[in-house]
Amino acid sequence: MNVMANNLKNLIPDTKYFLEREMKHFIAGEWVNGAADAKIPVIDPSSAEVLTEVPRGTSEDIDQAVKAAHQAFHDPMWRDMPPANRERLMHRFADLIEGHAEELGQLEALDVGMPSLIGQHVEVANVLDTLRYMAGWPTKINGRTMEIGEPLPDKRFFAYTTREPVGVVGAIVPWNVPLMLAMWKIAPTLATGSTIVIKPSEVTPLATLRLADLALDAGVPPGVINVVNGLGGEAGQALVDHPLVDKISFTGSATTGKQINISATETLKNVTLELGGKSPVILLEDANLEKAAKGISMGIFGNTGQVCVAGSRLYIQKGIFDDAVDRLSKEARSLKVGPGLHHETKIGPLVSEQHRDKVMGMIKSGIKSGGEAVTGGSVIDGPGYYVEPTVLANPPQSSQIVQEEVFGPVITAIPFEDIEEAASLANDTTYGLSSYVWGKDIQKIHQLIPKIRAGQVFVNSSPFPHPAMPMGGYKQSGIGRDLGEEVINHYTEHKSVVIGVN
Ligand code: NAD
Repeated sequence: MNVMANNLKNLIPDTKYFLEREMKHFIAGEWVNGAADAKIPVIDPSSAEVLTEVPRGTSEDIDQAVKAAHQAFHDPMWRDMPPANRERLMHRFADLIEGHAEELGQLEALDVGMPSLIGQHVEVANVLDTLRYMAGWPTKINGRTMEIGEPLPDKRFFAYTTREPVGVVGAIVPWNVPLMLAMWKIAPTLATGSTIVIKPSEVTPLATLRLADLALDAGVPPGVINVVNGLGGEAGQALVDHPLVDKISFTGSATTGKQINISATETLKNVTLELGGKSPVILLEDANLEKAAKGISMGIFGNTGQVCVAGSRLYIQKGIFDDAVDRLSKEARSLKVGPGLHHETKIGPLVSEQHRDKVMGMIKSGIKSGGEAVTGGSVIDGPGYYVEPTVLANPPQSSQIVQEEVFGPVITAIPFEDIEEAASLANDTTYGLSSYVWGKDIQKIHQLIPKIRAGQVFVNSSPFPHPAMPMGGYKQSGIGRDLGEEVINHYTEHKSVVIGVN
């Protein structure tokens, strides 16, 4: 099988125009060159061609951006902006993004490899939903009053709390859904009146840079949103270490998250970590197998498996094992693999050559450990980094392919006897991000839900994020939550005020 590359003639004029620009950092409301001349190439994973390059940010660039964010945080124009005006600003920003949804979808197709229609109608749609949901919060971030009585003889007090913005947020984002994950950090920043310096992934920086343009056009004051390109160990580390950064909001691998947590201890920052997953899918024998096969397929092969909540470990009740594996394999084979700009593409390439090689290494190790590739298992020829959607039956529970995050289009299938065994296999992982149950017996399902140690349980559904639903993990899948009311807590400080009244 051979797969084509993106045809750049399919780009709309806005996307072409953006790609022709010289890429820079966005600091204090201006596009600026890096302190050093070094550049990072941005590669189209469908063709292995260099699309453009971005400056490789240094600690000097980070310092400039953090100081701009710090100044903006204390500027009365932002600090004293009435919450309702912040709300209006966020809606203006959302309207501009909506007007550029097709362009942003194309940038994600070129940069990440995802189908551009998914970029436009799923990722950008979530970006808009998140920004508009969070725009409802500025007017609703309230403290409490407290009855503290007379704690000292003859002294009366009135006490209340206020909620204040956390300050300068350092946001570090991975490459898999870069625009959406950047917005999960920008939206609560704007809602709470904080400011932000974002370091996008060095692999997929483009859509985040375009977002900065739109923020400027929407009237977001200079310094409130800053974007510095660069490598993790350089620009990322400098952001984590900077003493004027109050909070680090990190999304990425558990390995990097642990390092960041250690580094952030030096300046005792408020840290949120959204890390990896190895999410279990429990398929009960009474499930609607036709719907389940489609949903499980979407939950693992969507975005070529490069999704933190991908349902990558399938546990199937014994009586339906062969039938379920067969149906899932047929679904996998039916998915059209191709470049993101082709409208019939369902599965794009993996993001890079290095990642394709890592995924293939793990598939081979899964087969070596005893797993049977019922479908897939190979690289697809082409100029880009394509791998076949793969179903591996019966690898040992203790094998690398079952225990480690692959972040590729690979699902393992293992049988179980009863719900006790299903829960025990599901929890046999260092991660605890998401989980899935397919079945009809509502009592069994309700018995399972509290047994599963994970931040989310989807029943008879593929994963999807919703801005009102907190997103985050148990165990080594992270600390804290993005989205929902919970993220507002993570982006605010609570101040207790006590007033003597006699
Ligand atoms: P990664 O950890 O390699 O990199 C993530 C970001 O961290 C990049 O911007 C990188 O430049 C930066 N970075 C690397 N080293 C750093 C350091 N020492 N200091 C500061 N920054 C540093 O992750 P990745 O490969 O880009 O992304 C894939 C991972 O992200 C997967 O594990 C996936 O599960 C996870 N992820 C989690 C969620 C979630 O919400 N839980 C969402 C998407 C992706």
